[in-house]
This record gives sequence, C-alpha cells and structure tokens, in this order.
Amino acid sequence: MTKPFFDRIALIGIGLIGSSIARDVKDLGLAGEVVISTRSIETLKRAEELGLGDRYTPSAAEAVKDADLVIVSVPVGASEAVAQQIAGSLKPGAIVTDVGSTKASVIAQMAPHMPEHVHFIPGHPLAGTEKSGPDAGFSGLFRERWCIFTPLPDTDPVALERLKDFWTALGSRIDEMDPQHHDKVLAIVSHLPHIIAYNIVGTADDLETVTESEVIKYSASGFRDFTRLAASDPTMWRDVCLHNKDAILEMLARFSEDLAYLQRAIRWGEGDKLFELFSRTREIRRSIVQAGQDVDAPDFGRHALDVKK
Ligand code: NAP
Repeated sequence: MTKPFFDRIALIGIGLIGSSIARDVKDLGLAGEVVISTRSIETLKRAEELGLGDRYTPSAAEAVKDADLVIVSVPVGASEAVAQQIAGSLKPGAIVTDVGSTKASVIAQMAPHMPEHVHFIPGHPLAGTEKSGPDAGFSGLFRERWCIFTPLPDTDPVALERLKDFWTALGSRIDEMDPQHHDKVLAIVSHLPHIIAYNIVGTADDLETVTESEVIKYSASGFRDFTRLAASDPTMWRDVCLHNKDAILEMLARFSEDLAYLQRAIRWGEGDKLFELFSRTREIRRSIVQAGQDVDAPDFGRHALDVKK
C-alpha cells in the first residue's frame, strides 16, 4: 500500500473524533494541508490553540473548497444541514465521508445533496470514549479498531480503496456492510448497552433519595462501570436514538423478553438457568479479549490502560 496522501483534507466538526483524525493526519503526514471548520467560534479557537490544522474557518463551505477528502464528524442529526452547506463548494472528484454512528439515516440525509461529481462514501470508525470536544481527541484512537464502510451501490471502487487505505494508515481494521445491517449490528453492540447504562444510572439516581448517597459510595461494586457509558455525550446519543429508532426498538424488545426470562428464573429459584446464562456470557468476554478488543486485566482493564498511556 502506498501512503494515502491527500493535498487538502477538510475536517467538518472537530470534537473527539474529528480532532483524533486531525492528530493522526498530522503525525502520519497524510495531507498537504488540513482545513478545519466547526459550528462555534469557541471550538474553532480551541482547535487552533491545539494546532490541529493549518487553516480554520467557521464556514463549512469555505473549508471544503479544493479539498480532496472531506470528513464530516458531527452528531448524526446535523448531517443534512452540513451536506446542504458544503454541496455547492465540493471539488469534482473529492471523496466525502462521515463518521456517524448510524448509517441509513446519514445516507438518507446526505446522499440527495451530494453532487454527481463527488464520491460520497459513508463510514463509521468503531472507536471512541465517553469524552467529547477537541481536547478529548488523541492520536492512535483508531488503532486496532474497526472502521465500517457502507458504500452506496454506485460507489466508485477506486475512491473506496483510497478511503480504506486512509483508515488503514490510521491503524483501523476495515469492514464493509450494507447500512441496514450496520445499524442492526450497532444497535446491539453499542446502542443498547448505552441505553441500558443510561437507564440503570437514571434508576439509581432516582433511588438516591432512599439510599442517601450509598449508590455513589459503594459504586465500585458494579454500578461505576455503567456510569462510564452513561457519561457519554447527550447530543450524540439523543441523535443516535432518534436516527436508529427501528433497530434499537427491535433490540430493546428482545432485551425485554430476555430480561423477563431472567426475572422468572430468579423468582422461581432456577439456579441452573442462571448458571448456564452467566457461564455463556463469561465466554463472550473471553472471545472479546481474544479478538484484541480489550485487555484481560481486572477492573475492566482500567488500570492496565492507564499504565499503557
Ligand atoms: P463531539 O466531540 O461532541 O464533537 C462534535 C462536533 O460536531 C463539534 O465540532 C461540534 O461543533 C459539531 N456539532 C455539534 N452539533 C452540531 C450541529 N448541530 N451542526 C453542526 N456541527 C455540530 O462529537 P464526537 O464524539 O466527535 O462525534 C462526532 C460523530 O462521530 C457523531 O456522529 C458520532 O455519532 C460519531 N462517533 C462518535 C464516537 C464516540 O465514541 N464519541 C465513536 C464513533 C463515531 P461545536 O463544538 O463547534 O458546536
């Protein structure tokens, strides 16, 4: 693979994901020039202070002019507005991609605005943290993490290969699937766990009046691990819920059925059923570690990750 070099890359949105891409592009020398645009002047100023790019502009249309690669990293609900802003300024032959956590909705919002002369290739790096904003990004975020592309039927294979090479250079592993399948898979591996975490932390918060701060005091017994997910960005997750509604509702229905099964087993003292389920789930944890998607350290790997930094 030759180095995927772009003369000009435009980053629209410079939060956790956009700024992590910016840091990698700089470290790896993947662009002649990086132009950054974001909605608010405060974030734009911060990006400049952090030296994330070469040029900064509050106008997304201005930023994409003459860019060979445009990466849109905004909450999925803002995709259409951004597409409308940039559509008239895109360079012929440019690759336009995104990083949104839902794909069918982003395609429905962006594709109709994309001119024929650009390559619109939706993507989603499966990497992140519960933090947001340009300070939260770091180089190496995408290393060993999957990046899924959901190309359109008429996507140019050469442009797709070029974009894959770019993400490979960032350290990602590459996969491809159709947008509906992506949204179902992500509903179970990412969206449902976040919704469960938001829900359990909300329930515990309601109980605080009864337990008088014991929820926080004794949180290391398990509760704490849900709070990390539940601290994720409210705007991003509101948009994910609204824009992957069908798949999330389907997974929630299955989850509720399985929860009822578990509830029954506990009520009727069916220890064998509980033991069988808990053994099965422990195996899943092992497979995740074996697949290199987490480290096999106690405390959910937190101390080990701290040491690694
Ligand atoms: P973030 O840190 O909150 O940054 C969001 C960026 O989008 C900021 O530059 C913000 O601009 C801009 N923005 C917010 N609302 C906007 C609007 N209505 N119109 C235009 N721009 C807007 O978010 P992030 O974590 O980087 O997430 C960006 C995208 O990546 C989302 O689509 C998300 O689904 C996806 N993603 C996130 C993760 C994760 O773990 N966080 C992982 C994979 C994919 P201002 O600050 O200037 O307002």
